[in-house]
Amino acid sequence: MTPNELNSPGYDIPDDMKNVVAITTLDKIYNFGRRSSVWPLMFGLACCAIEMIAAQASRYDLARFGMEVMRPSPRQSDLMLVAGTVTKKMLPAIVRLYNQMPEPKYVIAMGACASGGGPFKEGYNVVAGIDKYLPVDVYIPGCPPTPQALVYGLIKLQEKIDGQSLKQVRWYQKGADSVEVPIPMLGPDLIDPRRIPEIKTKAAELAAAATIPNAE
Ligand code: SF4
Repeated sequence: MTPNELNSPGYDIPDDMKNVVAITTLDKIYNFGRRSSVWPLMFGLACCAIEMIAAQASRYDLARFGMEVMRPSPRQSDLMLVAGTVTKKMLPAIVRLYNQMPEPKYVIAMGACASGGGPFKEGYNVVAGIDKYLPVDVYIPGCPPTPQALVYGLIKLQEKIDGQSLKQVRWYQKGADSVEVPIPMLGPDLIDPRRIPEIKTKAAELAAAATIPNAE
């Protein structure tokens, strides 16, 4: 957001006041603060994380976006950058970290693996996209995406934040503060607790179909 965009409340400011006062809306000034200090959670899952680290170094310098402070604690983070292959074993930990982040929080799926499983999509141990469990705000394609692609994805996230309004976003409404994502259970395979009733119904159907009636 440029200073001109920030200083545009939607009605004309008299010429003689234009360079003296700044008038904006609460949404704009508030979003300007949020989008300029998005703190990513510091964790990486696989090769994409190397590109994420490169984006933080001096050549690309995410300090320009106010995003250079990668927090080691989910309690202080606004952004989960899922950078790498999401394995079934790792997923419960990722969802738990997401639940521990305060609202408003955002998720970026960086790379083919985080977006849809990537080259390991049919693998026995790989989740075919983090969006099966967490709400993703921006997808960044590539295997791996370049640091430039990550920077572009972060700019897209900033544009999304710019478009949000205090009156409409879920986390400022009365009632539930944060939506907790059920933590998947790792057994012989991964189970999403939201699907347990469906799984039980299907199991009962299969059990009934497998019952062989007594042949006389
Ligand atoms: S998308 Fe490619 S580079 Fe990124 S984690 Fe998967 S295999 Fe590695």
